[in-house]
Amino acid sequence: MSSSTVITNIATLVTNDPSRHGDSPLGLVRDAAVVIEGDRIAWTGASSKAPATDKRVDAGGRAVLPGFVDSHSHLVFAGDRTEEFNARMSGRPYSAGGIRTTVAATRAATDAELEANLTRLLAEALRQGTTTFETKSGYGLTVGDEARALRLAARHTDEVTFLGAHIVAPEYAEDPAGYVALVTGEMLDACAPHARWIDVFCEQGAFDGDQARAILTAGKERGLHPRVHANQLSYGPGVQLAVELDAASADHCTHLTDADVDALAGGRTVATLLPGAEFSTRAQWPDARRLLDAGATVALSTDCNPGSSFTSSMPFCIALAVREMGMTPDEAVWSATAGGARALRRTDIGHLAVGARADLTLLDAPSHVHLAYRPGVPLVSGVWRAGVRVV
Ligand SMILES: [Zn+2]
Repeated sequence: MSSSTVITNIATLVTNDPSRHGDSPLGLVRDAAVVIEGDRIAWTGASSKAPATDKRVDAGGRAVLPGFVDSHSHLVFAGDRTEEFNARMSGRPYSAGGIRTTVAATRAATDAELEANLTRLLAEALRQGTTTFETKSGYGLTVGDEARALRLAARHTDEVTFLGAHIVAPEYAEDPAGYVALVTGEMLDACAPHARWIDVFCEQGAFDGDQARAILTAGKERGLHPRVHANQLSYGPGVQLAVELDAASADHCTHLTDADVDALAGGRTVATLLPGAEFSTRAQWPDARRLLDAGATVALSTDCNPGSSFTSSMPFCIALAVREMGMTPDEAVWSATAGGARALRRTDIGHLAVGARADLTLLDAPSHVHLAYRPGVPLVSGVWRAGVRVV
């Protein structure tokens, strides 16, 4: 029999359970308790009515929320780009070409070096409350290096994305059509067994709409589901293509026409906003308010990568989204938990309804609002993943 634990004396419990009454999407319960049985949530309700369990944890009047779901990261890489960041902060604009630096370092690294860097970043994210993460290939850009990145990632998460179409590999600089043929052919054959998702960087300087369509369609035929880097640096076809192909998510969404917003609001493709990228490149913020007011589903994620957003902190992204992108604290917390789960088409995570996976974050604060109210402060003081306390 699996053991049971009750966490009592929770000042604010965020359940994201739509069956809970209230004017917040967060399904808030005040003076709450939550019961974990095995790896699942077994009960939530008033602390005074909590049932007897094997173990008891006193939250001491602090807040508990679902573990963060970081639905967009690039964690299989070697090297860093400190110099590029330093130069950019001294006035040089970002361009997609910086990825080549990381490609060279990643190809030169051993498996052990890549996995050590990945596990270091995952531990860092876990300490900040991230209990589920997606991550991608995209710094190998050869058949062998892309497959290797996916194999390493798959040891740590089910949410693995093939991003051979991150940029055109340097060897194919004069033959982008040849690179698209490789990505949709031999590379896809080698990578599909290790991934759930296929992604493409649809952007000027990376892949255009026709190339992106060919890559995502080939992935779908191999059983991979699409997600798209769309409309980050400029207006373009990425968002509408994502909706048309029923991608789980269109990521970045910084430059949107009204038609793009309408498409997102009318489909089930989630708009995943990545404010760490705009922060780290001094770029224009995506307009979360416009998307939410139109009825689109919004997720927040870190985009953790060594070039344009080297943060693993979901609390930091929440603070940016509230301060700079027009989100309320409740909306930002929902997007960093339930929104991320939607962007991964997962129903078992991102909420604390009965039956959900027992992924919880305990804050050293009485309310989830403190995640935005106290930016940069390490508020996460406990993390449970699948019912096991890991922080
Ligand atoms: Zn990305």
